[in-house]
Amino acid sequence: MKEIILLKEGELALKGLNRSSFEDKLVKNIKYRFRDLGKFTFVKSQSTIVIEPESEDVDFAQAVERLKKVFGIVAFSTAAIAEKNIESIKATADEYLRDQILAAKTFKVEAKRSDKKFCMTSPEISREVGAYILKKYPHISVDVHEPDLKITVEIRERAYVRGNQIKGIGGMPVGSAGKAAVLMSGGIDSPVAAYMMAKRGLQLTAIHFAAPPYTSKKAELKVRELVKKVSAYAGRIYFAIVPFTEIQEHIKDECPEELFTLIMRRLMMEIATRIAEKDECHALITGESLGQVASQTLLALGVTDEATPLPVFRPCIGMDKQEIIAVARKIDTFETSILPYEDCCTVFTPKHPRTRPTLEQVRQAQALVDWEPMIEKAVAETRFEPIS
Ligand code: ATP
Ligand code: MG
Repeated sequence: MKEIILLKEGELALKGLNRSSFEDKLVKNIKYRFRDLGKFTFVKSQSTIVIEPESEDVDFAQAVERLKKVFGIVAFSTAAIAEKNIESIKATADEYLRDQILAAKTFKVEAKRSDKKFCMTSPEISREVGAYILKKYPHISVDVHEPDLKITVEIRERAYVRGNQIKGIGGMPVGSAGKAAVLMSGGIDSPVAAYMMAKRGLQLTAIHFAAPPYTSKKAELKVRELVKKVSAYAGRIYFAIVPFTEIQEHIKDECPEELFTLIMRRLMMEIATRIAEKDECHALITGESLGQVASQTLLALGVTDEATPLPVFRPCIGMDKQEIIAVARKIDTFETSILPYEDCCTVFTPKHPRTRPTLEQVRQAQALVDWEPMIEKAVAETRFEPIS
């Protein structure tokens, strides 16, 4: 029995005028996700994308699992191909959907016949398949309004039999909204922020600031692992690791302690902006949440924003920690995030950070040092690695 995947237009998050470019992006993204699972063909026919394994040895179950993590898909179906006669359709429904039939208390059959040359009408097909299932499985009954199992028979160029739809993750195809750079620490919030913005169609570059020897190789590998986990949803992510030690030491030695964190955040923004612009990213993303820590008060965020001309997206801004953790668990980043490695943010934490900074104070304090050569050096020495 040959199994395929059907993506229906109504189940895709496709937008009016941009429909065909959205669809192209989506198909490209799916192909990328399936790249190590064997060969598939993608055919568009009658507002449906049919994904078909080219050989027996593809990992179909894994393809279905991966599809559940592809943004832009609200729902999809798997289907078996039957011969174009009613006996084969009945036998295929029985064989292919046996587990679902056994698990259901009620069902209905819906037939759709777009091949009008087929010798039975849609109601006739539904009745005949329904009667066959009822006779064979005494435990199940018909419910046309809210059945546990809806069996759909489609007569097109071929005959398809499918059971209930599988829920997709929604969102927009990655890349359809452009590209942005996410500032990734090893914490709980930034991987969640990255996931949320990829869901809105952004392709991601991840920027991490490392301060060896204050931060360890293990801390860096932890962030890499987080980027990898996010890439299960966001597709390929360019991971940039910025050497930040020199800048942090200058902050510690030459800036007022109460402004350490803010000046550091501003310098991170400046460096991230340069990397973003080189990489054609048109926004920055952070995991900040209003009021969570001193550097995330309203005034502090304003001072941070002023360091970059790019829009800064903070999708966690209105979320409680518990809500952020719920998403982190869902996308499987939580357990990695809570591994106890130091972040460069926590290396020189001031005892009494300023929570109501003014831009003028911070600018003056920052102006005591000539940062430009250090920024240039950090950007030049940034290491890049594609992660997928
Ligand atoms: P997270 O859980 O994401 O680490 P947090 O609540 O610990 O967030 P901060 O440590 O103040 O908050 O960092 C705020 C944001 O700044 C992070 O969400 C992240 O976007 C960015 N950030 C912090 N440290 C780094 C770093 N070392 N490299 C890259 N970005 C960072
Ligand atoms: Mg952090």
